[in-house]
Formats: sequence, C-alpha cells, structure tokens
Amino acid sequence: MKALVYHGQDHFGIVERPKPQVTAATDAVVKLSKTTICGTDLHILKGDVPSVQHGRILGHEGLGTIESVGSGVSSFKLGDRVIISCITACGACHYCWRGMPSHCTSGGWILGNTIDGTQAEYVRIPHADTSLHHIPSATDTAVDEDALVMISDILPTALECGTMNGRITPGASVAVVGAGPVGLAAVLTAQLYSPVLVIVIDRDPARLAVAQRLGATHIIHAGADGDVVRRVLEITDGRGVDTAIEAVGIAQTFELCQDLIGVGGTIANVGVHGGKADLHLEKLWDRNVAITTRLVDAVTSPMLVELLAAGKLDAKALATHSFKFSDVEKAYAAFGDAGTSQALKVIINFD
Ligand SMILES: [Zn+2]
Ligand SMILES: [Zn+2]
Repeated sequence: MKALVYHGQDHFGIVERPKPQVTAATDAVVKLSKTTICGTDLHILKGDVPSVQHGRILGHEGLGTIESVGSGVSSFKLGDRVIISCITACGACHYCWRGMPSHCTSGGWILGNTIDGTQAEYVRIPHADTSLHHIPSATDTAVDEDALVMISDILPTALECGTMNGRITPGASVAVVGAGPVGLAAVLTAQLYSPVLVIVIDRDPARLAVAQRLGATHIIHAGADGDVVRRVLEITDGRGVDTAIEAVGIAQTFELCQDLIGVGGTIANVGVHGGKADLHLEKLWDRNVAITTRLVDAVTSPMLVELLAAGKLDAKALATHSFKFSDVEKAYAAFGDAGTSQALKVIINFD
C-alpha cells in the first residue's frame, strides 16, 4: 500500500509499505477513503514531537471501511463504514473509566505518533470497539463525509477542551482567541449553548470572515483594530467575558485570555503549548476565575455524529480544500501556508 512516512525534520514522502494486519483480537484494519492534516502533523514535521520516530506513517484523522477485524471485535464487521477517532481507548483502564481516554494506558494519542497512522491506504486500529464510530447509514441521513472527518479530532477537541471546559451557559459572553480550524470549531460548538456574544480574535481577516459566517457576533482583527482588550471591554460593558477560549498555543494569547476574562469567568485552554506562559495571579486571585486544561478525550464523538446527522452543526464549512492522496504533499503545502491558500481543513481522498 501507499503511505505518507516521516523521515525526520522536514523530510516526508509517499512510500510503499506492507498492508497492516490484525495483530491483536481487538484490532480492526480500516481501508481509508478520506483523511486530513492536523496542526500536530506540522509540529511533527518541524521535529517538535520527539515521540514520533523516523519511518512512522503520519495522521490521526480519517474515515473509511472495515477491511478486517480480530475475533474480539463485536461492534464492527467487514464492510462497515467508520470514523477513526484521534484517541484510541481501551475502555477498561483507570483513565478510560474516569472518562479520560486521552490518557489511556494502552491508547491515547498513538495514531501517527507511536504507531502508524491514517495517511495511508490502510491503518490498523487497536481497541477497535471503543476507538471507531459508525457512519450513519445513507438510508437514515446522508451526512456529508467531509464534515464527518471533523469528528476525528477538531469537533470533539473544540467541544470538550473549549466549549464544555469553558462552561458556556445560555446568555454568556465568549471570546475565542485564534480562528484556526479548532478555534472556528469552537465558534460552532459554543453556539450549542446559546451564548449572546461570541467574539473572535485573530490576525487573519480571511479567517475572521469565516468566523462571522459561522456565527461570531463580533470579530477583532488583532494588530489592526487597536487595543484588543479595550475593544472586548467595550463590547461587554466593561465586564470582560464569561468564557475565554485559548485556541493558539502561545504565551501571548494565553496571557491575553487573562486580560479578557470577567469576574466568575473561565479560561479554557485548547492550544498546544511548547513553552511557558505567565500566570498573573496578582490580577486574578480575587476574581473567582477558573483555568482549565484538557487533551481531547473524544468522549463526545458519538453525540457529535448525531448532531451532524441532524444538521445542527455546519462542520462542512471547515473543509476548504480537497486533494487526491497522490497529491498529499501539495495538501501539506496548502495547509502549511494557510495565510496564502486560506486553507482550514484539507480533505485528502483515496481512490
Ligand atoms: Zn488532529
Ligand atoms: Zn484505557
């Protein structure tokens, strides 16, 4: 089979690899029909993720058809259409029982990290029963498959780490700092809770325009619209926001969230941070503020599939570009240079 393999910093390409086989009774092998690229994949290519060894097949998102299953798999059979979760869950360890399969002792984020991933014609999925989701059959509801790819990672990430951790309630004010794919998915999922204000802050006017289409009530072009904090205080009658969602992953934006948060508010960190950030307790200690962190557990994915099937989330808007798998390197170029290509999520289709 053809697979996209990481060969070390800035080196990757399609190579021929043996088709994966079921090696444990709880495994399934999935023939991919669609995959996509994540910001994490770009970090890997920069050499920022030391757990990824040279020779690893990249990717942790996608959907396809069950090709083979182990004898211990009960929920899936040959030919079933499935969505692959970025988080592999055994369903039985300490962390899985506590609802945190992102920390599963024999799973978590392993695809395209410590085991071969989804940017290949076939992928082996361990703990298949608790790590795959059925695609709603076309006879029930025809859900766009590009939108379903967003179930693999960015929709549950935005919902669990941003919207739910941010404790958005009806009538709340929300600031989303960063309008990349996950920040925009946070704009979508925040609206499930009926906030009255959704303020989106970014440096890219094209992404802000998308945020507005997806339901942002206010957009602030950082660097062009004057002082961001003053602008947010104007919009919120001087109170600051009830929820600030950090969806960038740098110190500057985490510190900005501390300036935007109102009394009783929650800062929900979604961004992946590679460095330290200052915590201004001298300003926050008496403001009844909570700060949350989380790695996506993908425990909301079955519910998100139902929301998509019911037409309650416009996730298709996040899929801006399509490529054939043979052009996957072009897909990486478009995704990596989003400022020029205006790419959000790039869908990669297999023959
Ligand atoms: Zn991802
Ligand atoms: Zn587990």
